[in-house]
Amino acid sequence: MFLVGTALLIVWWPSRTEQGLLYWAISFFVRVPALPLMMARGQIADRLSIELGPGLLLAGLGLGWVGTRMIAGRKVSIPIAAAPMAIWFLACQMPVVYAETGHRILVFSTLTGLYSFAIAFEFWRDAVLSGHRLKKGLAALFVVNGTAHAVRAVYGLVINFEEGLFERHDVMAVSVFVPLVLVVIGTLIAMAMYREEHLDTLRYDASHDPLTNVLNRRAFFSRAEGILREGRQDGVTVALLMLDLDHFKTVNDSHGHLAGDQVLKQVCARVTGMIRRTDLFGRLGGEEFAALLKVVAPDDAMMVAEKIRKAVRSMAISTDQGDLSVTVSIGVAEDVGEGHGFREMMRRADSALYAAKLGGRDSVCGCSEDQAHAAGGGIGLVPAAERVSSPEK
Ligand code: GH3
Ligand code: MG
Ligand code: MG
Repeated sequence: MFLVGTALLIVWWPSRTEQGLLYWAISFFVRVPALPLMMARGQIADRLSIELGPGLLLAGLGLGWVGTRMIAGRKVSIPIAAAPMAIWFLACQMPVVYAETGHRILVFSTLTGLYSFAIAFEFWRDAVLSGHRLKKGLAALFVVNGTAHAVRAVYGLVINFEEGLFERHDVMAVSVFVPLVLVVIGTLIAMAMYREEHLDTLRYDASHDPLTNVLNRRAFFSRAEGILREGRQDGVTVALLMLDLDHFKTVNDSHGHLAGDQVLKQVCARVTGMIRRTDLFGRLGGEEFAALLKVVAPDDAMMVAEKIRKAVRSMAISTDQGDLSVTVSIGVAEDVGEGHGFREMMRRADSALYAAKLGGRDSVCGCSEDQAHAAGGGIGLVPAAERVSSPEK
């Protein structure tokens, strides 16, 4: 129990964010004196050995329930956490329980069984909601533990105990041994789980922009190549949209950098909500963003870009400086097939964006496939007359 508590404490320590893990560690430390107390039966006061020992085990179990609820982000109730220990101490005041080993085992194992199933339920629920498969493993362990105690509760009544806990009896020995083994396995699972969650957080931080929570430049580029390849394999056209907010320096200059940040956040949230989950959206830097979409029909990309442009200009962005509005210019380039890499597509989208800016901003500019080919994979801009939209004043 001490080693397991220490192991959990070591896992908890580096980030000290998951308080549930701390409660689980404490729950094991609380249990540490239980076994010595129970083994000293006859050498110390019976109340300490018979009553306090198991009482500490149940206190630990209540704390384990608290830890599990905290891990799952659920409310914690002190009465429910203290109940197993309290019920145990109350039951021990009744001669019918205190005087009979079988009855004491019945009460103790019923409480332990119930709380094991409750903990299993919490882990299972959390596993389903969070998608952490390892938590299902923990749930399964607590089901086994609960079952071992259910067997123990019944069996303790059936056989006639003389000596109590350490009497030699196969079923009873196994039912004590099983929970001890489970504790060790459970801790290993918990440690693996937290390592995994920690890595997930690090991976997320390494690939996302902290201000807007969209993909950062590096993650966008590394994932884009994969999407381009997939699109070619599936025969689906991939299109790149380069977005740049118009006169953003003016937004900062007139309303402050903080308001500018709020604009960036809300524009990102709006655009992210407009594209599919399988599409990519990232912040390339400053107020420049890119979206990589799998499109079905030839003009889809231009239509999506146009929808985004309209959505952004119609936003009332609430900031500390009051409601603001911004416009965006978008350059669009479609994949033109093998031999034309992502970098080249970027260049074409960037030039289209440049054309949109030159044409007066708040507009979408495309780069046609023919012209891309005609330019030998270089730049082919749709003439201004063909621009999907022009500034609306
Ligand atoms: P244009 O229409 O030509 O794009 O004009 P612009 O002012 O948007 O262009 P420019 O690229 O010169 O300015 C971009 C501005 O974006 C400059 C910089 O202060 C601002 N910016 C870059 N990153 C951030 C950020 O994280 N937060 C805020 N508030 N502003 C940023
Ligand atoms: Mg700009
Ligand atoms: Mg810019």
